[in-house]
Amino acid sequence: MVVLVTGANGQLGQAIQSVSGIYPQIAFVFRSSAELDVTNLQSCIAVFEKYQPDYCINAAAYTAVDKAESEPEKAYLINVIGARNIAEVCKNNRAILLHISTDFVFDGTSIIPYTEEDLPNPTGVYGKTKLDGEKAIQEIWNKYIIIRTSWVYSQFGNNFMKTMLRLAAERTHLSVVNDQIGTPTNAVDLAEVLIKMIQFCQNTPIEVFGVYNFSNEGQCSWYDFAKKIFEINTIKIDLQPISSDSYPTPARRPAYSVLDKCKIKKAFGVAIKNWEESLKTISFIT
Ligand code: NDP
Repeated sequence: MVVLVTGANGQLGQAIQSVSGIYPQIAFVFRSSAELDVTNLQSCIAVFEKYQPDYCINAAAYTAVDKAESEPEKAYLINVIGARNIAEVCKNNRAILLHISTDFVFDGTSIIPYTEEDLPNPTGVYGKTKLDGEKAIQEIWNKYIIIRTSWVYSQFGNNFMKTMLRLAAERTHLSVVNDQIGTPTNAVDLAEVLIKMIQFCQNTPIEVFGVYNFSNEGQCSWYDFAKKIFEINTIKIDLQPISSDSYPTPARRPAYSVLDKCKIKKAFGVAIKNWEESLKTISFIT
């Protein structure tokens, strides 16, 4: 079984690489943006012709949420045209596509966890391009699994956990917003779930294509998340909660984006760790 991973040097791509050795039965092909540009259809065709993947995990994305507001064309190119190109080559090669999307497709006005059936309504360019990317895939190829995830962190790439650890080394006090509620996702847990889904598709004739939510269990604010990061790493810092109003950003974030995971748990039988428990497994001081 050949599994192609795009955007392989990103946070999730590296997390998949870190666990790939546990699965010798899978021939992983990791391709960075330099080796496979998803915005270039010819580049996609050439890589698919060469490796003939049975599955493709599209971990390539434009993920700069605030910057997307000032460069929407670039975000669109990678998140929509890129997703469309990958769906096109998956279709032509009969490969199953696993594509990663985001909690930012929702506007955050809910007060209960979002299910896959809830109506998306992104509030910014990044969320809109990710939603349009989902739609582009759905129009082209029916053998897709779209996984919406949230607040991804790990020891790899750039993420909130690493930013907090870096800032704690530079400052004595820090303010973090406490009025945005969501769930952190350990990128390694996401990587393992993606592989579990592939194994499920490979071993059972049941059709499981569609949209799924995945994050760790539980919920917290960014302030709670920061507090836990410092607690686990025994970092003493004056940490203050602030409102989003006192920390304006170019892109408006959803105030609430907890994802309901019933569907993925039922369909694939996955057990999901609580976010605090999972955070403890990887926290370290950079
Ligand atoms: P990263 O930004 O760490 O990784 C994205 C990767 O995509 C980078 O390696 C980047 O390469 C690559 N890429 C950019 N443009 C192209 C291109 N044209 N062709 C091929 N590759 C390209 O993001 P994450 O790993 O954190 O995110 C993985 C997925 O999860 C994304 O779909 C994202 O939208 C989603 N997600 C992420 C969340 C988070 O908190 N990080 C939250 C919710 C969803 P390069 O660096 O060379 O440009």
